[in-house]
Amino acid sequence: MDTHAFKRALHHSERYNRRGFGLGDVVAGHLQTAYQSDLVARIRDNGYVLREGRLTVRLAEAFGFCWGVERAVAMAYETRRFYPNERIWITNEIIHNPSVNHHLREMNVCFIPVEEGVKDFSDVSSGDVVILPAFGATVQEMQLLNERGCHIVDTTCPWVSKVWTTVEKHKKHAITSVIHGKVKHEETLATSSFAGTYLVVLDLAEAQVVCDYILASAGGRSPSAEQRQAFMNRFAKACSPDFDPDRDLQRVGVANQTTMLKRETEEIGRLFERTMLRRYGPAELQNHFVAFNTICDATQERQDAMFSLVDEPLDLIVVIGGFNSSNTTHLQEIAVSRGIRSFHIDTPERIGPGNQIIHKPLGHDLACESPFLPDGPIRVGITSGASTPDRVVEELIQRLIELSSR
Ligand code: SF4
Repeated sequence: MDTHAFKRALHHSERYNRRGFGLGDVVAGHLQTAYQSDLVARIRDNGYVLREGRLTVRLAEAFGFCWGVERAVAMAYETRRFYPNERIWITNEIIHNPSVNHHLREMNVCFIPVEEGVKDFSDVSSGDVVILPAFGATVQEMQLLNERGCHIVDTTCPWVSKVWTTVEKHKKHAITSVIHGKVKHEETLATSSFAGTYLVVLDLAEAQVVCDYILASAGGRSPSAEQRQAFMNRFAKACSPDFDPDRDLQRVGVANQTTMLKRETEEIGRLFERTMLRRYGPAELQNHFVAFNTICDATQERQDAMFSLVDEPLDLIVVIGGFNSSNTTHLQEIAVSRGIRSFHIDTPERIGPGNQIIHKPLGHDLACESPFLPDGPIRVGITSGASTPDRVVEELIQRLIELSSR
């Protein structure tokens, strides 16, 4: 499918909107009340520090809503205003934040039901309004909604669209897109739907497996049948249909899920560049490897702020954001990598009753820890994912203040 031509046609449709409805001023008050926080604003003005009794809170210097998320949420609110009586759907959580999605449900915005991992669009009718979330939707979903005569409000973040353009360029030049991302994440599903031939790698270790395979055919050799089978077993669910590693790993370009760790994406890019250099030599490198910078600034700023935060003397760190939020999980990974006692929670209600916290340790199910706050003076670092409103951070701080003053 020519996804580029499809997008271009869709963008000219009268039933498609990706710029909002000019109702920013009308919804600003609602957004302020629902999501912003005077307390957090004061802490920012105070050098990101709050002292209250024995508690010191140190906020990361970049956290919370990124502009892409702010834009998506504002567009969703505008959509409700613009279409007061129409049925409105969202193809997925608009962003990975429980409180934002709760507010949208209260505004009578419906979520497309999911049965055993498959979305069921059967109730969506012509004339319905469908919002595409900040991390996008697959081209097949867009096609279905367009053919069904829906009004599409596309809040896809421009940074995500930039990655789609990158993989489309790969496709045009018969280059395989190596996508650094989580294979089941909605953004990666959407990105791979715009790609031609693709392979998704989760991390540097998986990228190394791919590069080892490429080098197994260096110097006129070929990978053995066992090596090929092992490769296909490992990536069976992470590649385009009919993927052939011997044919499709000869020309590669790297793209990413925008919320992955930037340093890891860069390292993966360098690894592929070195691999292609060894495999094909310097004169041929540009025919076998291309790189585009597709890492979102907001993700990077939050990660950098977290790296600064973990350098401070802290007793513990609380990371708040949806459990299925990739960028939030990465913030926690940074704390874990420094051996700092850290807790990932999705809502402030996870703290209490009493001095306990229910949190999600990295890669594990929910766990309860008690006592949560130690005795004596405590310094708590706080950060939040790009889809977490300041209002939620305020509630977390209020709980900490209350708990530490008992
Ligand atoms: S984290 Fe980046 S890519 Fe994702 S919505 Fe925010 S600005 Fe866009």
